Amino acid sequence: MTGPILKDAAGPERPLHAPVSRHLWMQNTRINRPDEPDVPVIVRGEGVHVWDEEGRRYLDGMSGLFTTQLGYGRQELADAAARQAKELSYFPLWTYAHPTAVELSQLLAALAPGDLNRVFFTSGGSESVESALKLCRHYFNLTGEPRRSKVISRHIAYHGSTMGALGLLGIPEMRAAFEPLPFRSLKVPNTNFYRAPVFADDLEAFGKWAADEIERTMLREGPETIAAVFLEPVQTSGGCFPPPPGYFERVRELCDEYGVLLVSDEIICAFGRLGEYYGSARFGYQPDIITIAKGLTSGYAPLGAMLVSDRIADEFVTRGATFTHGLTFAGHPVSCAVALANLDLFERDGILDHVRTQEKTFRTELESLLDLPIVGDVRGAGYLYAVELVKDKGSRLSFDADESDRLLTGYLSPALFEAGLICRADDRGDPVITLSPPLICGANEFRFIGQVLRDVLSDVWQRI
Ligand code: PLP
Repeated sequence: MTGPILKDAAGPERPLHAPVSRHLWMQNTRINRPDEPDVPVIVRGEGVHVWDEEGRRYLDGMSGLFTTQLGYGRQELADAAARQAKELSYFPLWTYAHPTAVELSQLLAALAPGDLNRVFFTSGGSESVESALKLCRHYFNLTGEPRRSKVISRHIAYHGSTMGALGLLGIPEMRAAFEPLPFRSLKVPNTNFYRAPVFADDLEAFGKWAADEIERTMLREGPETIAAVFLEPVQTSGGCFPPPPGYFERVRELCDEYGVLLVSDEIICAFGRLGEYYGSARFGYQPDIITIAKGLTSGYAPLGAMLVSDRIADEFVTRGATFTHGLTFAGHPVSCAVALANLDLFERDGILDHVRTQEKTFRTELESLLDLPIVGDVRGAGYLYAVELVKDKGSRLSFDADESDRLLTGYLSPALFEAGLICRADDRGDPVITLSPPLICGANEFRFIGQVLRDVLSDVWQRI
């Protein structure tokens, strides 16, 4: 073992170049045993590519984690961060404000649909969802409806990792270790049409049924006990389920009828991922709250926010109430400066138009994989797609949990990585490969993605 030695007052000498995961506790990852291979280390990025420490290049088909909308190595974003760090490196949004937060809040409100005019900053996605949960509670306590404490979300949905956000998770295995959770949350069907339990040949009827399940749940529990419905425009977890036509229209109607708040969790679906600044705009619905993070800064600095309707905020204004909730790094000046520069580049480079014109090429490339026996379905919108893998295409039979684990973790993830493509082999529902490439990708990158998937999936089928 080479490398400098750190002297630790409390312990023995330790080398700097210990195995990667000796000290680094990875996120959402089974902890490595000492005899297991170490994780790859990514050291550099430029455009749509990243490089590992061995100098190998990968196309980042996941935008990091649904985040690097404009790709890596953008000088303008690095400069914006450096300028702001020199001008005002940090200041909180408690008692005082600072210019980049003010300017960004104005811009985000101007881009938002309807009356979402209040911007509450956070430092990431889970904090945005947690803030929305707390705001819904506070709002109903304030307006004399304290019984409204339950929240509704969908099966297999992911909404973050803090205790409140965890309650929204439709993935029981991810919740189990932390129960009991602080919010009572009720689960309703997602819009997975490929596995529709009813109306399997009528998308619109299926969508109406899925929305009506929300109403049935409200009525069963007592609508006066329900605070909010949390939905992503396209549900990413489980494999990118777009909403059927009419789905959100019906959900909005229900929320209005029963006095429930509609929270659109757009942590993945905003900032061009679906070809619009906000995912709800793509499907034409008006949320009461939108949660955002990730692509807001293209990942050059951590930042999140929730956008709140005047209707909710005005209750705080007229009562002179304080939303007693705050975070030290929320709306960090450097992150806000980066977000402003990021959104400038969106405008300058016509990123939304680019996604809208190129998404068909992306879809066509992925749909061409449907001739492979292992590919059951291709679905998504914008630059957010999933390819569902099946054992038997005719019957849509899926792999069982063990097979899925062996297929995805044991073979597909390493094989795709080896072939130079980063994407996500995911078995939070049925096994899927999720793709969410940087928004600057075009036909060449889609061709590469399609070719790697074809080669690797054909190979895995032979092995099965
Ligand atoms: N909500 C959704 C829909 C997400 O996909 C995520 C993360 O992927 C979150 C919330 C949590 O965001 P973060 O990981 O930034 O805390």
